[in-house]
Amino acid sequence: MPAVAAVAAAGPVAAEPDTLTRRAALEAHAAETSGCTRCRLAQGRTQVVYGVGNPDAELMFVGEAPGFHEDKQGYPFVGSAGKLLDKLLEGIGLTRRDVYIANVLKCRPPGNRDPQPDEIEACESHLFRQLELIQPKLVATLGNFATKLLSGKPAGITRVHGSPQEALVGGRNVTLYPIYHPAAALYTPALLKALEEDFSRIPALLTGPSGTVAPQEAQVIQFPVAAASVAAPPPDQQLGLF
Ligand code: URA
Repeated sequence: MPAVAAVAAAGPVAAEPDTLTRRAALEAHAAETSGCTRCRLAQGRTQVVYGVGNPDAELMFVGEAPGFHEDKQGYPFVGSAGKLLDKLLEGIGLTRRDVYIANVLKCRPPGNRDPQPDEIEACESHLFRQLELIQPKLVATLGNFATKLLSGKPAGITRVHGSPQEALVGGRNVTLYPIYHPAAALYTPALLKALEEDFSRIPALLTGPSGTVAPQEAQVIQFPVAAASVAAPPPDQQLGLF
């Protein structure tokens, strides 16, 4: 089909909202989401943990759900897994100000139990809207829940970590980069090594055209991160991570 006909058939192409409009929309969405009562988790939460970071970030991280500290403070990844995330970011020359961090669930499941399918279903459009507004080039999914939700595939993190994949998320094409959840790496040195290696490829993935950098071709930056200095949370704080 000629290009003009193809465009006509698809209808007019919507212009991408400019930066200020997107930022304002993200703030408005955060305010709207702060009163969410779509699922049972609204009853036990201290507050909605919407997300934090640079609204123009090229790199977005998606974790599982807020834990105890996140629920109290209102920001994602502020506990020991978050400290490891900060160190991993530092290792590739980034800080929280350069990236955006959010979770699949915006409210803490009681006792940090696994997210339930109906909770994920109720919450997923919040995450899709964040992705739509932030428009990251690369979405690093931390652990199984984020990876399975955003890829729409059942393959677990052990199989797919470190391999970028294209996915259609909430109607948008995004490049996913599944990696282990930092909380899982706190318990297991082998997972920390894999996480460090996967992290080291992020700069090349960000500079190359989306989805074109094969993991083995990407630049490897030297770690290790001093994970030993990050205290592991009690086992009941992070479940079902890999
Ligand atoms: N684990 C997550 O998945 N998200 C957080 O915000 C904190 C710990």
